[in-house]
Amino acid sequence: MQAFILSVGDEVVTGQIADTNAAWLSQRLLGLGVVVLGHAAVRDVEAEIIAAVRRAAERSDLVLMTGGLGPTHDDLTREAVAAAAGTPLINDPASLEHIREIFAARGLEMPASNAKQATFPQGGDVIFNPGGTAAGFRVTVGRASVFVLPGVPSEMRAMFDGGILPLLPETHTAIVVRMLKCFGMSESMIAERLGRILDLYGNPRVAFLPSAGTITVKFTATTATRAEATALLEPMVGRAAEALGEVVFGEDDATLQSAVARLLKASGKTLAVAESCTGGLVCHWLTEVPGISEHLLEGAVTYSNAAKTRRLGVPPALFDTVGAVSEEVARAMAEGMREQSGADLGLGITGIAGPSGGSPEKPVGTVHIALATPERTVHQKWSLVGTRTLIQFRAAKYALNLIRLELLRSVGR
Ligand code: ATP
Ligand code: MG
Repeated sequence: MQAFILSVGDEVVTGQIADTNAAWLSQRLLGLGVVVLGHAAVRDVEAEIIAAVRRAAERSDLVLMTGGLGPTHDDLTREAVAAAAGTPLINDPASLEHIREIFAARGLEMPASNAKQATFPQGGDVIFNPGGTAAGFRVTVGRASVFVLPGVPSEMRAMFDGGILPLLPETHTAIVVRMLKCFGMSESMIAERLGRILDLYGNPRVAFLPSAGTITVKFTATTATRAEATALLEPMVGRAAEALGEVVFGEDDATLQSAVARLLKASGKTLAVAESCTGGLVCHWLTEVPGISEHLLEGAVTYSNAAKTRRLGVPPALFDTVGAVSEEVARAMAEGMREQSGADLGLGITGIAGPSGGSPEKPVGTVHIALATPERTVHQKWSLVGTRTLIQFRAAKYALNLIRLELLRSVGR
């Protein structure tokens, strides 16, 4: 089964809002084994909507539309879809009653303009909207089933799951995706290593998705049943994970911080972080993980030299001799934080995020990271590239990865 997604609205076309509806629907359809042929966005112009619906209906079995079901003059989707289907709009008394009740619940009379939201193309099905006045509908255009939903994402999602899923025919196709999340190896190196042991172009298909240093290896199996897809994926993902070793920090929605949190839990260790160039990003990301409070004791953003000395005991002489961005200061920050907090692990991170502040010896992107443990202090120096934000992101990720690798050594996977 093949589907096309059509988003209606000037704001989507002009880029004022990102088309998250199309993204969400695509993911849902993929999970159902429906092949999404493409997305398009059209303006709030009736003739353009009609043409877009017809074009989408010619190419696919299923057209999913969102937006333009409101009560105002620029909400033209219902009129356009009815025209594309060649049917008139007729009143649905139950929907009108539902809209009246929504207004009555707020102590208001229903404005006359809302009555149009209770009209639907003849011969179609109404899709109830528990969350608002804009009901959706299904109608046939050519050989395609066209489903129309409101633009508001929360309403659209609830209606897809509650009102459309039960109406979709069996696809007899299962598309199952698994992802290995990797850090610390480039996309091309990962591809090369996996290319030697796996067919990257067969089924499951393999894709590489880089994002600020994290490489997601995505395996997509397309078969008749979920069980078959899973049986194909299992050995392939297993072999890939083995070949990549500690570069893999987790699967699917895992993040570096969730991997660190898992290892802190497994080892029963505590952590405290002292940050300069990342401005608290490492600490912030760690606090995204529920339950981290048992293991993360504190974080300090020690931006000035004076703060590094006062809060962490970094010897002032270091700033004059080796400078604030140096292995020595990173180590002193990590060890100072570990001692002051009483945590098992202390992290120190200092660097130059740019765009100014670099020098020939210490260019923008120079980052020193140190991790103090009961046994030793490990240090890494990185030369990162990108904008200020990207350098901060990458530096924070390298810091989390250093913690992860050190914990891996102590607890194993
Ligand atoms: P309403 O009754 O709220 O007017 P509607 O069906 O007319 O519903 P729109 O007016 O097109 O929907 O959109 C309402 C809001 O929903 C928009 O302001 C926008 O915030 C959000 N929205 C619309 N289309 C999309 C989209 N494709 N992706 C994400 N958000 C969207
Ligand atoms: Mg609207």
